Amino acid sequence: MEKKNLDWANIGFGYVQTEKRYVSNYKDGAWDEGVLTEDANVVLNECAGVLQYAQTCFEGLKAYTTVDGRTVTFRPDMNAQRMFDTAKRLEMPTFPKERFVDAVKQVIKANESYVPPFGSGASLYLRPYMFGTNPVIGVKPATEYQFRIFTTPVGPYFKGGVKPLTLCISDFDRAAPNGTGHIKAGLNYAMSLHAIVSAHNAGYDENMYLDAATRTKVEETGGANFLFVTKDNKVVTPKSSSILPSITRRSLMVVAKEYLGLEVEEREIFKEELSDFAECGLCGTAAVISPVGKIVDHGKEICLPSGMTEMGPITKKLYETLTGIQMGKIEAPEGWIVEIK
Ligand SMILES: *Cc1c(COP(=O)(O)O)cnc(C)c1O
Repeated sequence: MEKKNLDWANIGFGYVQTEKRYVSNYKDGAWDEGVLTEDANVVLNECAGVLQYAQTCFEGLKAYTTVDGRTVTFRPDMNAQRMFDTAKRLEMPTFPKERFVDAVKQVIKANESYVPPFGSGASLYLRPYMFGTNPVIGVKPATEYQFRIFTTPVGPYFKGGVKPLTLCISDFDRAAPNGTGHIKAGLNYAMSLHAIVSAHNAGYDENMYLDAATRTKVEETGGANFLFVTKDNKVVTPKSSSILPSITRRSLMVVAKEYLGLEVEEREIFKEELSDFAECGLCGTAAVISPVGKIVDHGKEICLPSGMTEMGPITKKLYETLTGIQMGKIEAPEGWIVEIK
């Protein structure tokens, strides 16, 4: 497969239009058969449900080139399931899970020249999403929807080396106890924009959100889950029904237990405990793990012992093992790596 002549190391994380995208429409209670198209534009009625009442959800996953030159993607069945769960909560039609995985494969195959070569550190990001298309003015779910997947090549996340992040504990809430924090709805991001812009203006990289009900427990950031490492090398992650179940975080917990032989635990984590941890990382598809160096709680600085220059030792092992699995250097658990043929 002839690759595009792109400057893979410097493409960053932005939209680069590629050749083909997948589109399927839902009407009269059924999805059509779906097609690959070259048309990157979506034309909608002015009153479309998505434009009036934000009925939209999305997913995110990547395709890579492995060390032996295969094009693969990582656990697309998990994204299919999560989008299924999200659609139910938003009163949207579910997209069949096996069709989701098939569409992912089709769209990667059709844009294979944009899957960056092994060793570039870059990858092809896939964005599946769904939105209400027909006119809706009274508040109710749309009856017609579009499901799409586009792809865009993205550069290496840790370009120029790893830089541990500084977080601030936010005064804004990300998710209500019985709200939509556990699903990948666009609305969760719309309402987080003011909080992230405010954090950036104050000099922080990310927000640490607390549980909205008591504001005593750690939840997540705007787009990544937390992993903490205790001083006796146990890997812990917050347990809450309002956290988005990150596929990266769930995979890293398996890696910690099965590959590194570490004790793992999903439990409530109190803000008061933060100063007891040895390491902290943010988990998500974009970076796999970004190390956190400092957390600021209204002027009080909590400095992680792993410091502000590198990943902590356990975070690093987790990162190297999971990326090794994704790149085909380390044997993967059954079903994690899906080859595009
Ligand atoms: C997408 C997302 C994550 C990361 O999930 P992955 O499946 O690991 O990419 C974490 N938190 C939020 C709020 C998200 O939307």
